[in-house]
Amino acid sequence: MPVKGWIEVDEVYCKACELCVNACPAEVLEISKDRLNPTGYHPVQLVGNGCTSCMICAIICPEAAITVFRENVLSREKKAETEVNH
Ligand code: SF4
Ligand code: SF4
Repeated sequence: MPVKGWIEVDEVYCKACELCVNACPAEVLEISKDRLNPTGYHPVQLVGNGCTSCMICAIICPEAAITVFRENVLSREKKAETEVNH
């Protein structure tokens, strides 16, 4: 079962350099077109459900603006097991 991940962007720090957009192997990052942060940049946003929580975007971001989250797979499997047993 693929790992499900997601990210959060601290938009205040994003400079829209697109390093993360170009580095994401799942191609699930884009520059927002309709929002501006306080310094006048269009911040990055997550699109779709394809994030694998690989961490590449967070590592490459020069502003450390990205935090990566990963679904707790063990909890999910335990829950599925519990549901099967009931
Ligand atoms: S963690 Fe990986 S897959 Fe997810 S948005 Fe970042 S680079 Fe893309
Ligand atoms: S690498 Fe960081 S600063 Fe550059 S676009 Fe992505 S989130 Fe914004």
